[in-house]
Amino acid sequence: MTIERARRATLHGAGDVRIEPWGPPAPGPGELLLEVEAALLGGTVRKVVARGHHARMGTPPFPLGHEGAGRIVAVGDGPEGWDVGTRVVPANSAPCLQCAACRRAMTAQCEDMVWFNGLFATHVIVPARIATHNTYAVPEGLDARTAALAENLACVLKAKDKTPVRLGQPAVVVGGGPMGLLWTWALTLAGGRVTCIDPDPHARERAATFGATSALDPAHVEAPIDAPLVVEAVGTVEAWELAIRLARPGAIVHLFGGPPTGSRVAVDTDHLHYDELTLTASFHHTPFHFAAALGQLGAHGPALSGMIETTIGLDELPAYLASDARHAKVAVVP
Ligand SMILES: [Zn+2]
Repeated sequence: MTIERARRATLHGAGDVRIEPWGPPAPGPGELLLEVEAALLGGTVRKVVARGHHARMGTPPFPLGHEGAGRIVAVGDGPEGWDVGTRVVPANSAPCLQCAACRRAMTAQCEDMVWFNGLFATHVIVPARIATHNTYAVPEGLDARTAALAENLACVLKAKDKTPVRLGQPAVVVGGGPMGLLWTWALTLAGGRVTCIDPDPHARERAATFGATSALDPAHVEAPIDAPLVVEAVGTVEAWELAIRLARPGAIVHLFGGPPTGSRVAVDTDHLHYDELTLTASFHHTPFHFAAALGQLGAHGPALSGMIETTIGLDELPAYLASDARHAKVAVVP
């Protein structure tokens, strides 16, 4: 199969992203060849590009883009159930479902995870295990950009399972970036009353449109905040420490964002012990949560698509990454 002018974005090192011609092969057994409709750029990609590597994605060069949607243009032998022309969202990982972690239903901790990148491209091959266990048809009427939010939302839904929120209960979300917005929306949908905390006035305004009943500048917040749940959704040491500091006695603090490898946080042991705090954390998503996230996007997509603040062409990606533009999410279309 020859595809004219196929291209993809490859990370060669810190800050070095190149759009390169690529000859996508015919899909092998179990694989799918997609024509990418849209992929999303957010904090994780910025982090990976700045650092030049990622603990789970490997060492450069590797293709970038792990949140996206596309149309099937060719199907390898198997997998059952996929047809040319179907619009799908492939997850960016698939667990083995056989190792000790998978058998404990902790598939995000799979010892043999298949990871998948390369959606900043005109075309991409979906690995067989992902095509079989973690790829989903786009719900009827949902646009590709919004469908691609499934990865981020799946991470939030998995973590939210650890953080019960009751009707009318207050909750604090530290961070008004994409993950903070999804948390704000999900907790609000579950009946919570969310206070979002972010130093950026634009982020605070945005949080209100995702359901936050109040949005505060951390410089003007007095600890503790009277809420049984504090969620950290930034991924810095400062944000983790702030989230813990804001917790009232008995609160659950969910530390969601991933600070740089090797980070250490300082916790006031009196606060943790005498105030009986519970600290929890969550990583990544599961096929169950990925499917649920895409279903929620099918039902509520328009409410969430507002976080995709701009759309750029694939060839514009390197220049965009080098700029200091900071949209919540950016759609990249080939
Ligand atoms: Zn496994």
